[in-house]
Amino acid sequence: MKNNLKTIRNTVWIYFTIFIVSILVLLWFTFGISLESTYKRMKTRDIFEIANYILTDWSEDEFTDDSLDRIAYDNNMCILIQDAYGNKVYSYDMMASNCLIHGFYASDLYKYRAKALSSATGIYYAEVNNPRFNNNTMLFVMVLGDKTDPSGYIFLNTSLEPLDSTKSIINSQILWISVMLLILGLGISYFLARLIETPIVRITKSAQKMGHGDYSVKFDGRGYTETEALAETLNYAASEISKVDSLRRDLIANISHDLRTPLTMVKAYAEMIRDLSGDNPVKRQEHVNIIIEESDRLAALVNDILDLSKLESGSAEINKTTFSITKKIHEIMGRYTLLSEQKGYNFYVSADDDDDFEIEADVIKIEQVLYNLINNAVNYTGENKNVYITQIIVDETTARIEITDTGKGIEPELLPLIFDRYYRAEKSKREVIGTGLGLSIVKQILKQHNFKFGVRSELDVGSTFWFEVKGRAVHDAEKGENKND
Ligand code: ADP
Repeated sequence: MKNNLKTIRNTVWIYFTIFIVSILVLLWFTFGISLESTYKRMKTRDIFEIANYILTDWSEDEFTDDSLDRIAYDNNMCILIQDAYGNKVYSYDMMASNCLIHGFYASDLYKYRAKALSSATGIYYAEVNNPRFNNNTMLFVMVLGDKTDPSGYIFLNTSLEPLDSTKSIINSQILWISVMLLILGLGISYFLARLIETPIVRITKSAQKMGHGDYSVKFDGRGYTETEALAETLNYAASEISKVDSLRRDLIANISHDLRTPLTMVKAYAEMIRDLSGDNPVKRQEHVNIIIEESDRLAALVNDILDLSKLESGSAEINKTTFSITKKIHEIMGRYTLLSEQKGYNFYVSADDDDDFEIEADVIKIEQVLYNLINNAVNYTGENKNVYITQIIVDETTARIEITDTGKGIEPELLPLIFDRYYRAEKSKREVIGTGLGLSIVKQILKQHNFKFGVRSELDVGSTFWFEVKGRAVHDAEKGENKND
């Protein structure tokens, strides 16, 4: 962790704080600023409603002092009703003679009556400051009856500012909510951060252990789907790395062992020639031959290792060309003639020219596959020295190549292992030339080509290694055309 400030905890905390502060700002804004204007709007509406109410009662000659008192009290409003001559008909002084209208001189009342009379609707209203408390009030004057012959006037007056007590109650409540929100926010963000952090910290600890070479470590991401998936991936990676690691150890051990054996032989026979057999042509010949054989074995081993490492690292590209696998098989089998003549091996090839099958693949690599499988069959086949190479046309686009021997077969439990790198069923068997890498090379090449492959084997009967190539069967008619070219 390079930047200690950028922890999950801090980030969560910062965002939470921003969130809470925004809520608080909104809260203060709503109550602090809009409370006043909302209040103003409400009061103005109330005034009109009440004026209407009084007007109705007045015209129906129905109003009573009691009902008006009630209205004035409920609405926190001062009311003054005058007759046409300016005499008081009804008065309610909400604030004990501190009401604006009740503090007016007759001249003030006259002035406002005139304003109402001169307005089109017979109503005049305005915000007027009450000097007594220096607060904004709404003054409302309405002519009763006809404007040309008024029967009276209504004066209404109410404060436009919320009561201080209301304000302070709200303020203290907001303050309280703010403090609670802050504490709650801090608490929640702390726990949230811890909750998120915990599996990550756990995984990090395990990863550090793995970094130090402990591949048995288990990653635990319980808590969240994401961390669980991460832990699962890491567990998989750890098991794969551990497999690779143990394979690497095996590989080095095996390779060094296999390199040392022929080297020791080469050295031993070279010394023998120097000290003993140098002058004896027959012995010397024999010993030199052994040296050559062992060098071949060494060369083969080194080549296989190089091939495999290239194939596995993906640096070996496949150069695809179109060729006939059928012809290829015949061509390769031609090279085994010497073996069949000198050592008595019987090769049975059943891939007729009629079954000509063209594929698009890397010729050299496919040859390598065929050689490896045929060599294995030769090496492991039984006393009768029979080896069968069969091409089966599965469908228009698929042909299956099978290489069968009559050897002692492979134990079922070993079958899944033999394609593994460096696996040899009998590790010390030296009479059969092999590096234990052949089938891994076959597997890598076929995988690179996306060709299916496999093996079936029966103890004491023999084994069949097969792979399926994709391409197309070339029909007789086409061949005819080709011949005419
Ligand atoms: P090797 O160089 O040892 O043949 P391979 O990778 O080609 O290495 O084969 C791996 C192992 O699989 C061999 O050591 C052998 O035990 C087994 N195997 C391969 N082919 C055959 C076969 N045709 N019959 C029986 N066993 C086989």
